[in-house]
Amino acid sequence: MDPREKHPGKLFVLSGPSGAGKGTICRKLLEETEKLELSVSMTTRSPRHGEVEGISYFFTEKEEFEEHIRCGNLLEHAQVYGNYYGTPKAPVLKKLAAGIDVILEIDMQGALKVKESYPDGVFIFILPPSMSELRKRLTGRGTETAEAIELRLGETLKELSYIEKYDYCVVNGVLEEAVARVKAIVVAEHSKVAFTAEELIASYKEEA
Ligand code: 5GP
Repeated sequence: MDPREKHPGKLFVLSGPSGAGKGTICRKLLEETEKLELSVSMTTRSPRHGEVEGISYFFTEKEEFEEHIRCGNLLEHAQVYGNYYGTPKAPVLKKLAAGIDVILEIDMQGALKVKESYPDGVFIFILPPSMSELRKRLTGRGTETAEAIELRLGETLKELSYIEKYDYCVVNGVLEEAVARVKAIVVAEHSKVAFTAEELIASYKEEA
């Protein structure tokens, strides 16, 4: 096998404060990138209007979620705003083995756990351009109560302290620019030297 073609899938982990635009960036990236798939998380929170089972999330009861934790079915899980969220392990590992990149859109606690078990992952932090813009976005979304928005804004400054654990940070001011940057990260990560000199030399010798 040509070591330059040896491409197991890469795991990309996208986090950032609520309202920073991770979801929108993810959607665009998935539309515009080949061989990249989103990991659908499991959660105990109730579906929001327009969310679809199995596409937005796998919506489950607390007891069932806890059973998945016990059975080791989750790559990571965390409690966010009083609800469980977690990444089903099997589909992620299967895709990576098949050479498909996987993107996880998860919170920082989850990202840190993934980093422990999967240090080869690529960790990207999405930042809002400012706190005032973040408030505007969260209010404009209309999916949260005023109280929930205040809670999420309050969390934001604490969440920024995780930045040093990440490999990349992308400010989401202009969406297209942010998406272009994340795409550039994906390309750069696939251009890393991922083979030994011996493997490379052997493959060139075969060609000669
Ligand atoms: P929301 O309820 O707005 O969909 O998500 C709330 C937070 O949970 C977001 O920061 C989102 O990234 C995070 N989240 C979604 N899925 C997962 C997951 O599987 N694991 C972890 N740790 N966080 C998740």
